[in-house]
Amino acid sequence: MATKVLPPKLLKNLFSAASAARYVNSSATSSSSVAAISQLTLGEKPEVPILENPPTITTPTVQDHPDILDLKDHQKLFSTVPTKKLLHAALTLHMSAFGPMVDLGTWVMNSRAMDVEITREAMLKVIRHTFYEHFCAGEDNLEVEKCVRRANDAGLRAMLDYAVEFTDDNETCDHNLENFIQSIQTAASLPPSSVSAVVVKITALCPLNLLERVSDLLRWQQKDPSFNLPWKHDSLPIFAESSPLYHTLTKPEPLTPEEEKYLQLGYDRLLRLCQKSVEANVRLVVDAEHTTVQPAIDYFTYSSAIKFNKDDNPLVYGTMQAYLKDAKERLLLATTAAQKMGIPMGIKLVRGAYMSSESKLASSLGFESPIHNSIQDTHDCYNDCASFMLEKINNGSDGVILATHNVESGRLAAKKAQDMGIEKENERFEFAQLYGMSEALSFGLKNAGFRVSKYMPYGPVEKVVPYLLRRAEENRGLLAASSVDRELMRKELKRRLVSAF
Ligand SMILES: Cc1cc2nc3c(=O)[nH]c(=O)nc-3n(C[C@H](O)[C@H](O)[C@H](O)COP(=O)(O)OP(=O)(O)OC[C@H]3O[C@@H](n4cnc5c(N)ncnc54)[C@H](O)[C@@H]3O)c2cc1C
Repeated sequence: MATKVLPPKLLKNLFSAASAARYVNSSATSSSSVAAISQLTLGEKPEVPILENPPTITTPTVQDHPDILDLKDHQKLFSTVPTKKLLHAALTLHMSAFGPMVDLGTWVMNSRAMDVEITREAMLKVIRHTFYEHFCAGEDNLEVEKCVRRANDAGLRAMLDYAVEFTDDNETCDHNLENFIQSIQTAASLPPSSVSAVVVKITALCPLNLLERVSDLLRWQQKDPSFNLPWKHDSLPIFAESSPLYHTLTKPEPLTPEEEKYLQLGYDRLLRLCQKSVEANVRLVVDAEHTTVQPAIDYFTYSSAIKFNKDDNPLVYGTMQAYLKDAKERLLLATTAAQKMGIPMGIKLVRGAYMSSESKLASSLGFESPIHNSIQDTHDCYNDCASFMLEKINNGSDGVILATHNVESGRLAAKKAQDMGIEKENERFEFAQLYGMSEALSFGLKNAGFRVSKYMPYGPVEKVVPYLLRRAEENRGLLAASSVDRELMRKELKRRLVSAF
């Protein structure tokens, strides 16, 4: 019944993805992007609404405005963090920024040593007291509750993520469903507004191979609109004219009756979670994953949003990955279609975590990568999409969670929201960072008056290991978020030490 952890091959891909993402903070090379979505070529496929007057988005530049975020005053930034916790955080971040340490840890975790109980237990113990304590909210609901309360006392909110990865069988999906429901119940039991959302992964609710099949079928229908999908519920546009369809080179077989039954089971699991979320009055945020399954994930997300997103408060939020070349166009098409249907749209905007495996897959099939050609293009796309969603919030009832550790993206969005007069208490607009990462940015945004959530993975240590290895990999080298935090933590610890004598 145990949920699978990622197989070593996939893990390796994820690690190399994060390796490729090592770079010096983009905020050092402040970007100036003025993007016009009107330049996009829009398709005429039936699912894709044609935009008569496409909106133009102008992204402000950092040079245009004084600093809205104070990330220099380390005393103020870390004023709510006890010294013991600060020291632990600084040590863990330094450790995970040390390349050879990450290499060693990764090697051990993927080695046969983990099959031997005694070494496995020893390794898990080390992980529990280092990376796990730093990047995770706890093993069970009780520990999570404590963690959320601590964050709440510091002025931050929580996005609860029961950290399971994909599965291939229905039994595990049922088990995962119970854990997700438990997350919602935990959220409901905590002080109002201390939990901003509960996170769900569709690959933990519906077997992965079935989601791949569904994605293939959806892609084929995009190629050939006459291709009938009898099981398909109402949805929003999943693809754009520019979306790559290379994953599906031949016409897929229709779903068998058994597959249709399992698909309905997966869909029902999501609907059950939505219903529980309504009762608990907490948002449900669906994570984005690989492009092999993302069309099915978007299909699940959008069709449940159509059922549950009402009035002026979206319940179901999907995730858009700005590193994808077609992200901006898809965002525009989905939000425009939702608007026409009178449905408030909720989007978590991220850059994307599967860069290297995406590029490798495309290249192995002889196609160009779906990821932007440069990191600057990804930054520009992120900032344009953020700007676009802020306009939507200002003019309607959509919602956005700007999930990023990038200081410049945080600054630009904060300034734009302020200029547009979006209320900082607006439930439909918030920033989010991963728990244990970018503390300075989180506190800086919070101190500037914005709503900020920490994305808090939790669950038994051994199940969270793939997630932890990704975080450790992401933190090493010159990765921006971690190096800014480490520097500020070091200064604050020094200040506290000096002032103690
Ligand atoms: C709250 C939260 C929730 C998240 N949920 C998801 C999720 O559901 N799905 C998901 O995929 N990720 C998710 N992520 C991770 C996210 O996608 C990024 O991997 C991570 O946040 C780093 O991006 P950043 O915006 O913080 O900015 P930065 O650290 O400034 O940017 C790094 C990112 O830029 C992109 N990039 C790097 N090099 C290049 C290049 N050469 N060309 C093009 N692009 C490049 C990559 O996407 C890389 O991750 C989440 C992150 C947060 C904070």
